[in-house]
Amino acid sequence: MPLNLQDYLARTAAMASDRGFRKELIGPEIPAFSREGDGPVVLLSSGIHGDEPAGPLASLAFLESGPSTDFHWLLTPCLNPSGLTLGTREDASGRDLNRDYQLFASPKTAAHRAWLDDQPVPDLFISLHEDYDATGFYFYEIQLAGHPSVRDAIFEKVRPHLSIEPGPIIDGRESSGDGWFFRENLPDLTEFSELEGGFPEALYLSQKGCPLSLTFETPTNAEPLEARVAGHLAAIEATLAEFRQF
Ligand SMILES: [Zn+2]
Repeated sequence: MPLNLQDYLARTAAMASDRGFRKELIGPEIPAFSREGDGPVVLLSSGIHGDEPAGPLASLAFLESGPSTDFHWLLTPCLNPSGLTLGTREDASGRDLNRDYQLFASPKTAAHRAWLDDQPVPDLFISLHEDYDATGFYFYEIQLAGHPSVRDAIFEKVRPHLSIEPGPIIDGRESSGDGWFFRENLPDLTEFSELEGGFPEALYLSQKGCPLSLTFETPTNAEPLEARVAGHLAAIEATLAEFRQF
């Protein structure tokens, strides 16, 4: 069932305000929240696919948990409000926004880019998604700074909530192992664009110089919503704990 957009936006704005975040509007009904801190810049993003409610709910739960003060936080919890209302992957105009971070044909992604370009380049990008065909959790890791992978720490924290999606083929692609796609370099961008039909948000951030990009996927049809939200939260916490040691 789709989330109630107005209810979600009101709860998120209230919680963000309570936690000391500043709110800006990227576009109509597209909020961005920020709170300066002493440490690295962390961007948490969700809701770009409207039929994946676990991400926005996990972002709200993360705000509620009280984000620590040792990071400079950027949050875009609901990037596709019309899709969220309709319960569709695409926005109301039928566009998959997460394939539009090269051409920026949509006013929504263009406004999002303008906002991103006003912020410091994130040191860590975390994006929350869901997969309707998966049976377990998996994630994409673009690790450009040569640090060790955060995989083992994430799996350990996620396993109490969700199983790990088995490899070697995940979502029709050859994975780097169970539950995991790993890259140490940016892909060939022309080739990527042709294969995938356009850049996702994550690749735009990597291109901008964000050294660590993680995209979490939880299994929509295999697990209840609460478990998917808990899995996202566990993966975020595990990532932050590892990232502090870099
Ligand atoms: Zn998605």
